[in-house]
Amino acid sequence: MKNLSENIKKMKLSGIRKVNEKASKLEKSGKRIFHFELGRPDFDTPDFIKEACITALQKGDVYYTSNYGHKELRNIISNKLQKENNLIYDADEILVTTGVSEAVWDVLCTILDPQDEILIPNPGWINYWNISSWLQAKPVYYTLKEEDNYQIQINELERFITPKTKALVLINPHNPTGSIISKETMEKLTLLVQKYDLFVLSDEIYEQIVYDNKPVESIASMPEMKERTFVLNGFSKAYSMTGWRIGYVAAPASYIKEINKVHQHNTTCASSFIQDASIDALKHGKEAIAQMVKEYQRRRDFVVKEINSISHIHCFLPQGAFYTFINIKETGYSSQYIADALLEKEGVATVPGNVFGPAGEGYIRLSFAASQNELQEGIRHMKDFFENLKKEGLHHEISNY
Ligand code: PLP
Repeated sequence: MKNLSENIKKMKLSGIRKVNEKASKLEKSGKRIFHFELGRPDFDTPDFIKEACITALQKGDVYYTSNYGHKELRNIISNKLQKENNLIYDADEILVTTGVSEAVWDVLCTILDPQDEILIPNPGWINYWNISSWLQAKPVYYTLKEEDNYQIQINELERFITPKTKALVLINPHNPTGSIISKETMEKLTLLVQKYDLFVLSDEIYEQIVYDNKPVESIASMPEMKERTFVLNGFSKAYSMTGWRIGYVAAPASYIKEINKVHQHNTTCASSFIQDASIDALKHGKEAIAQMVKEYQRRRDFVVKEINSISHIHCFLPQGAFYTFINIKETGYSSQYIADALLEKEGVATVPGNVFGPAGEGYIRLSFAASQNELQEGIRHMKDFFENLKKEGLHHEISNY
């Protein structure tokens, strides 16, 4: 029997999915589980989007579309980018993909050669690291620190740049910390990537989920940045359409043509009738998004207040996305220990921070894209858990739970 690829053996499974599988197993065995692990909005997809999808199916839009996606959808994405993000992209500068996940894959395949270096946030959504490694490029972490409000420190970032550095990944708003890149940092980043002639992957999937009217700027809107930026965005989070699998990449047309080669051999095109529904989402979705964001903001305020009232743990106030990144360092336990013990003892599923990179050690990620009732009860269990830890005495050794 031949062996499978050596490369695939090295590729890691998503640590987030691992927690979810373990939580679901416990749930099937009858344990009550509070699902705070997945980045999945708990809202249903708005009805008008579902109806648009059904209409498209009934009308017979069931065939392959252009590899690039329906022209009408690309036109409407172009309008959205101009109106909401101050970005000028024509339809031929947009490629519709099967979720941002596919867009990430396609863009990384398009820009990276083996040994190329790519700067990735630590902590950060892990696909960037795993796919770059798969492509035999060299992912290099730059650290985001709580004491800096998770703002990128330009001097530190610059130290990681070598002649082999090809690209910088920005996740804005950021998963897992909920931070938003400040205008000042964005301006400095612009100068830095121009100085070193880098590409930028700007992951803006949480761009519409922001609190206290905090503006999110796309680095592509800064002077002379369009030519070096790949804007990645999609429908999963803002419209609660994670299962529909639809996203897009915006970049200069000459790059889009190359990205399309990967996309063509990968998925051919995004599903036709889902593209139709996405047109309606963009046309009529503003109110639905506003309602969801209002609810997330209420939950965020509740969760942050409650977490910060528990001894030995605290969290940063997220400005966007729907995660709280909880500092558990004072407990003396590892992220893995706390996440495992919370799940097994109290049924509270969170993600150990180290899943997002080494700088995530000492943190757990809690997604507040869950109902208020679940959050209330789940956090009560967390309080009991940390209260008991306190009674048992804090261990200052990292445990191998
Ligand atoms: N980018 C970031 C930063 C994410 O957190 C996620 C999902 O959690 C994705 C991309 C993937 O999005 P999609 O569902 O569009 O593939």
